[in-house]
Amino acid sequence: GFVTLEGGEGAGKSTQSERLKRRLEARGLRVVTTREPGGSARAEAIRAFLLSGRAKRHGAFAEALLFAAARADHVDRTIRPALAAGGFVICDRFSDSTRVYQGKLGEVPPSALAALERASVRETRPNLTLVLDVPAKLGLARASQRRELTGEERDRFEAEGLEYHTRIRDAFLAIAAAEPERCAVIDASGAPESVERLIWAEVESRLLT
Ligand code: C5P
Repeated sequence: GFVTLEGGEGAGKSTQSERLKRRLEARGLRVVTTREPGGSARAEAIRAFLLSGRAKRHGAFAEALLFAAARADHVDRTIRPALAAGGFVICDRFSDSTRVYQGKLGEVPPSALAALERASVRETRPNLTLVLDVPAKLGLARASQRRELTGEERDRFEAEGLEYHTRIRDAFLAIAAAEPERCAVIDASGAPESVERLIWAEVESRLLT
């Protein structure tokens, strides 16, 4: 099973990725958690370049190519081998983030992104995509709280305001509405434990029965 977690900032994707991993492992399943951009040595190097903002001057299309290059390596080196070995893969962000950030907001044409997605993902498509949904305001508040706690700097993509984050949320919801077989929208505004239970209900009914 290949599960992706999607959603805006402060939705709780990385927390829930670890919680879902523990639940699946308790069932005796082998689980690899990974993330994008990144998830393999070469893709992490591309991530550092993208998040530093140095890629920005090359333009939105070049950034989209870099995301695709990172994804192709990540799929080849991390995701496909883990699935082939019979395990579960939980990936924090995947192609839907590209459709949203590089597509809807970055204005790279959908036809170009679709071609890049086919070339980088190939047959390794997610079986289930959990869209963690929070109001933009709550997501931004959580993200800034996290930065305060960890001393993490804002990355190149984190500087935008409430209106931008509302568009991100709406774009993820539109993807989920268009592909209900693959996607489940999870209300992620509650406590971590309750979000974990909502996710588990979806995973159990869609992948484990
Ligand atoms: O999920 P995480 O915070 O690690 O993502 C890093 C940053 O990269 C985020 O600010 C996100 O908005 C951005 N991003 C992006 N396009 C993608 C994936 C992530 O702009 N396809």
